Amino acid sequence: MSLVIRNARLRGQAQSVDIAIDGERISAVGPNLADSGARTIDAAGNLVLPGFFNLHFHADKCLLGEIMRPNVSGTLPEAIEITNDFKRNYDPTEVATRAVRSMEAGVMNGTTFFRLFADVGTIGGLQAARGLFLARERMRKYCRTQVVAFPQEGIVRDPGAAELMDEAIKEGCDIVGGLPWYEYTDEEAHQHIDICFDLAKKHDLDVHMLVDDTDDANSRSLEYLALKTMREGFQGRVTASHCGAMAGYNDVYAAKIVDMVATAGVTISVNAHINLVCSARIDREPKRRGIARVKELLARGANVITSQDDVNDPYYPFGKPDPLECGVMIAHVAQLTLPHELEQIANMLTVNSAKAARVTEYGIAPGMRADLVVVSAPSVHEALRLQPPRRHVFKDGREVARATLTQELVAWDPQSSL
Ligand SMILES: [Zn+2]
Repeated sequence: MSLVIRNARLRGQAQSVDIAIDGERISAVGPNLADSGARTIDAAGNLVLPGFFNLHFHADKCLLGEIMRPNVSGTLPEAIEITNDFKRNYDPTEVATRAVRSMEAGVMNGTTFFRLFADVGTIGGLQAARGLFLARERMRKYCRTQVVAFPQEGIVRDPGAAELMDEAIKEGCDIVGGLPWYEYTDEEAHQHIDICFDLAKKHDLDVHMLVDDTDDANSRSLEYLALKTMREGFQGRVTASHCGAMAGYNDVYAAKIVDMVATAGVTISVNAHINLVCSARIDREPKRRGIARVKELLARGANVITSQDDVNDPYYPFGKPDPLECGVMIAHVAQLTLPHELEQIANMLTVNSAKAARVTEYGIAPGMRADLVVVSAPSVHEALRLQPPRRHVFKDGREVARATLTQELVAWDPQSSL
């Protein structure tokens, strides 16, 4: 045994337990484990969760907000235009420096697994991907990282993108990206999805696409993606982010799609931050929330996750990035406020994401990898309410981050001039 975390509160358990770690793995979980002389960390009755995931993060664009011109319309098209200005001049080292800064912040907030989206296309070539490979390498001690070959300019409408995606995968991308709704026609959106699956099958990789990220209720590439997933036997290997068009579907069509998504085992990633500020800009009132139908998906048993899409970039000027902030955001946008719904949110940040990424040996039990986060709160409810500092973060049994900041009211004397 190399480390014991004492007085750990696990989800749904009233009594604290100790978590023993041997090397990279959890060796025992239980009350009052015997003292073996190993290093001890006192969780002080606080919640311990398995490490958080962020499976949708445009790390190549993060922090461009520090140097970009303002997005004066606040719209997606202008965000794309601004980003393209930077992308033409991307240098992998510069991309990696920005990505690492945001990943470090994410690790300190308990993220031990990232899926980074690298724009791959004829504007920026492979520069973003190469930057994120560098970031992945620099952060290897702190977190697990996948890089997605993501065709931000489309595939059919950006001739050459498919070949560049193939190259990016050969150089080290782990996931096949996609952006089918961005193609000019439904037919070309289907071609886009077909090309992505060809790449996925060729390289035996999973798929993560940005789907129907629009207020147009007629944007229906999720339907074809779910069908393709079933036909190709890719159940459990595909994630669809955004799917905001679902908000505008008629209820009958929405029910069909929810059922197809669940049957196909497609994970839906909700990125509430960005959609709340970018979607429904053209709506007068009422303005749609622009997110997937979370409650209907959960009720049907579909795998739903939430993730931090953007960190201070031309699309979105905020983002810490903090999975608990994502959790509280989806709680508001999808109206998940009941006790069991808060637990569903905790699942989205942990086990549902692990399922989407097909990460095994995950969780707080003997034999699992010791990727853990100690939150300064005793419960999921309080963790979401306060989003407090993460006292300790562990990856493979090693402490990789800790919080030392303390806050307190200062006692002062009104009679004193000091
Ligand atoms: Zn995105």
